[in-house]
Parts: sequence; structure tokens; C-alpha cells
Amino acid sequence: MENIGVLGGTFNPVHNGHVRLVELFLESVGNSRVIVIPANAPHYKPMRDFAPPVDRLNMCRTAFKGMKNVQVSDMEICADGFCYTADTLTKIKEANPDAALYLIMGSDALKGMLKWYRAADIIALATIFSVARDKDIPDALRQNIKRIEQMGGQAVISGCQPLAVSSTEVRRRIREGASVEGLLPDDVTEYVLQRGLYK
Ligand code: ATP
Ligand code: MG
Repeated sequence: MENIGVLGGTFNPVHNGHVRLVELFLESVGNSRVIVIPANAPHYKPMRDFAPPVDRLNMCRTAFKGMKNVQVSDMEICADGFCYTADTLTKIKEANPDAALYLIMGSDALKGMLKWYRAADIIALATIFSVARDKDIPDALRQNIKRIEQMGGQAVISGCQPLAVSSTEVRRRIREGASVEGLLPDDVTEYVLQRGLYK
């Protein structure tokens, strides 16, 4: 059976932590491919510092270009308004009825996901594949995994240490004129500078 990993995010901008997260999934789950889905302007993040959707989409395409079994989708960016993860997963499942879906996320997202809209549907549609972002993996996350399992879902945490990088830090560095070497794929850095994003 084919396994499809879905990675949603704002990707503002996409960085090497996201790339590593996708690689970890492809290494961990056999016969898999990944769909990366940049979100439309989300209602829960401040608009300040927010790069236009088309730029975030282009940066994702640049970052994952040439990566086997990875596709960047504009399904949320082209949709009218905000898209809920449950709806996006439902559409992907409808288009791929025989595939097993995984929802890929960092541990910060796992911490809050049971409060997301239609969390029970999300868990019914996809196995949660999570990677620790900070040192707090143990208790809070284990609690959440237990809760997901009690709800009839499945969640796995990759034991690997991902890159300690966030888009917030990248934006701060760019604003301050500091180097982002090693944090972004080189082509993405070039795109950011050329478009004058996050200044
Ligand atoms: P911001 O700082 O603006 O919130 P971010 O770096 O968290 O940006 P998002 O676009 O919010 O990036 O993240 C999309 C998904 O990727 C989320 O599930 C997030 O947890 C995960 N993620 C982001 N960075 C990492 C990382 N370094 N390691 C593991 N997962 C990550
Ligand atoms: Mg984030």
C-alpha cells in the first residue's frame, strides 16, 4: 500500500528543518511520498512579516525541487480563504482512496493538535508522524500520543533530532541583516533576498 505524508505549514519561509522533516518521514516510512501544502494566510498568525502566498509557494517549490517523491501542492493557497486540515486530508483521501495517510508535524504542532477543528476526524484519516523540535519530548507529548490512541488513532514520534531552526528565527535574522547560512536551502536564500522579503 502506498503511504502519503502530508506536511502543512505556513512556510514563511520554508527552511532546512522542513526539508529534514520530509527526509525523515521518507526514510522512516516505506513506499511513501510527501505532499507539502503551504497554507493560505492563516487566521491565527499576525499578518506582520507574512510573505505573500505566491512567494511562500515558490519558496517551497524551490526547496523541494529535485527531491524524489515530494510534491508541493497549491491546493490550500488556491482555495478561497482558510482551509482546515481535516478538509484537506479528506480531499487527499478522496483522491487516493487506497493510500494510507500520515500527517507530518513538529512536536510543537502535536502539542496543540487535539484542539484543532475536527481533531477526531484528522486522527481517523491519518496517522500522526511527529518529530521532536525541542528537548521537551517526554511528558506532554507522550500524554498527547496516549490521548490520540485512546481516540482510536495512531501517532509515532521519530527518535531523530531535527534541525533546531524555525521560520521565526530566519525572519529575525534577515530583518537584522544576519547570516542565514545553513538554515535555508541556498536557492531559497537567494529568492528571499531578491524579493526583499522579511526586511
Ligand atoms: P514559525 O516560526 O513561523 O511558526 P516554523 O519554523 O514553525 O515557523 P511552520 O511553517 O510553522 O514553520 O511549520 C510547519 C510544520 O513544520 C509544523 O508542523 C512544524 O512543527 C514543523 N517544523 C518546523 N520546523 C521544524 C523543525 N526544525 N523540526 C521539526 N519540525 C519542524
Ligand atoms: Mg510554526
